[in-house]
Amino acid sequence: MNYLRRRLSDSTFISNLPNGYMTDLQRPDPAQPPPPASSTPAKSPTSGPTPLAVSPAPERKPQTSQSTSAGFFSSITNVVKQTAASAGLVEQTQVTTPKKFKILLVIDEPQQEWAKLLKGKKVHGDYDIKVEQAEFSELNVVAQASGICSVNMQVLRNGTKVVRSFKPDFVLIRQHAFSMTQNEDFRNLIIGLQYGGVPSINSLESIYNLCDKPWAFAQLINTYRKLGPEKFPLIEQTFYPNYKEMVSMPSFPVVVKIGHAHSGMGKVKVDNHSKFQDIASVVALTQTYTTTEPLIDSKYDIRIQKIGADYKAYMRTSISGNWKTNTGSAMLEQVAMTDRYKLWVDTCCEIFGGLDICAVKAIHGKDGKDYITEVVGSSMPLVGEHQAEDRQLIADLVLAKMNQSVEREANAPQRPTTIQPSQITGELTKNGAGRPPQGCLQYILDCNGVAVGPKPVQAN
Ligand code: ATP
Repeated sequence: MNYLRRRLSDSTFISNLPNGYMTDLQRPDPAQPPPPASSTPAKSPTSGPTPLAVSPAPERKPQTSQSTSAGFFSSITNVVKQTAASAGLVEQTQVTTPKKFKILLVIDEPQQEWAKLLKGKKVHGDYDIKVEQAEFSELNVVAQASGICSVNMQVLRNGTKVVRSFKPDFVLIRQHAFSMTQNEDFRNLIIGLQYGGVPSINSLESIYNLCDKPWAFAQLINTYRKLGPEKFPLIEQTFYPNYKEMVSMPSFPVVVKIGHAHSGMGKVKVDNHSKFQDIASVVALTQTYTTTEPLIDSKYDIRIQKIGADYKAYMRTSISGNWKTNTGSAMLEQVAMTDRYKLWVDTCCEIFGGLDICAVKAIHGKDGKDYITEVVGSSMPLVGEHQAEDRQLIADLVLAKMNQSVEREANAPQRPTTIQPSQITGELTKNGAGRPPQGCLQYILDCNGVAVGPKPVQAN
C-alpha cells in the first residue's frame, strides 16, 4: 500500500496513465456528494440491461482539490482491496445487501439484440435482467473451484472498445462452439463456464457433446435401435477415425463429411472409387475423422425444430440445383407438424440430458423415403418467416430457466456472499479514456487488454 501511495504521488507516473484513469479514480465515493450536474450520470448496477456500446468519453470538468484527496485514496484502496480479495490474498468482505439483478450472458452476433427482447422482464418478480452480449471470439473466462466464474469481454461497437468483467448468472449460447475451420474452437470457453457452474440453455454438457457430429450421431443410432427404421429412419452412415481405413466403398455416389464443420463446409459428393481415393488423401492431411453416407437423390430437406414447447417444420428445396440445399439459392416453406416429425424431435431432445432447443435435419428422397441426418442444438440458425417469434420464444425460455435457477439457488444451502466479479465492471473507449459505472470498479488492462488489477498499462 505504501508502495502504491508512493507511486501514485509520483507526478511522472500519473502523467503516464491512460486518459480517464485518474479522473475516474478521483471521482468521489458514492457516499459523498454527487458530481457536478454537467457530468454524465453514472449507470446504476441495478438499472437493467446495459447497452454494449458506450458513448464518447464525457466532458471533464476540473475537480476540486477536496474531492481529489478524499475520493482518490479511497478509490485506490477499494481497487487494491477488491483485487486482493478476488486473488484470495486477504479475507473477503461480507456484503449484506444482495444484488437486485441477474446477469444473462448471450453469446451471439451483435445484430441480434437480445436485450430488447428481455427489456422490462424480471426474474422471480424481483431481479432485473442485465444482458451482456458478445461473440465467442470476444470472450474469455476464468473459473475457480470455489464457484467464482469471471467472464471477460472485449467488444468493439461502432469504433468503441467496451471492456467488461462480470460473473454471469445464466448463459444463452447461440453460436457454434466448435468448427474445424480456422479459429473457431471455443470449447475451452464452454469448459470454463461449466467449471464455473454457470447454468445455461442448452446445457453446457450437451453443447460440448454436440461439438463432434459423429458423437451426436452415435446417440441417434441408439434412438434408431429403440424405435426402429419405420419410426426413426436414420441414414446409413460409416465412421472413419482417420484416412487409413478409407479404402473402398460398397457403392457410389456417396457424400463424404470431413470433420466437424457447418454451412456445408467439408461435405463432398464422390461419384467413384478413384475420387474416393483422392478424398482419402485429403483427409490424411486433416488429421480428423470422416463419415460417409449414400448420396440421397433428394426432393427436399426437412427441418423439425423445437423451442421449449413450440414445434415447427420446414422444407427446403434447392433452386440453384446444388446438391447441398444450404449452398446457393433455395426455397424455404413451413409445412405441417405431423406426429411422425414430433416423435423425431421429441426423442432427439432427450439426448445428452435433454435439449431445450433442438432441430432434427432430414432429407426427403425422390424415392418417397425420409433419411434423418443430424441433430443440432441451441446454436441452430433460425430460419423462415417466424424468426422474430422464435427469438422471442427463446427469450421466454431463458426467462423461465433463469427463474428455475434462482429457485434452486434459494433452496440450496447458503454460503456467505462475497464480493463477486460481477460487481467489477468497467468501460474503456478506444483511446483508453473511459468511466466506470458508479459503485463499480474500473480495472486495468495488460498489453493484451486483459484485466489484471492495479497495474496501469496503456490499453491497446
Ligand atoms: P448446416 O451447418 O447448414 O447444418 P452442415 O455443414 O451440417 O450444414 P449438412 O447439413 O450435413 O451440412 O449437409 C449440407 C447439405 O447437403 C444438406 O442440407 C443437404 O441438402 C445436403 N446433404 C447432406 N447429406 C446428404 C446426403 N447424404 N445426400 C444428399 N444430400 C445431402
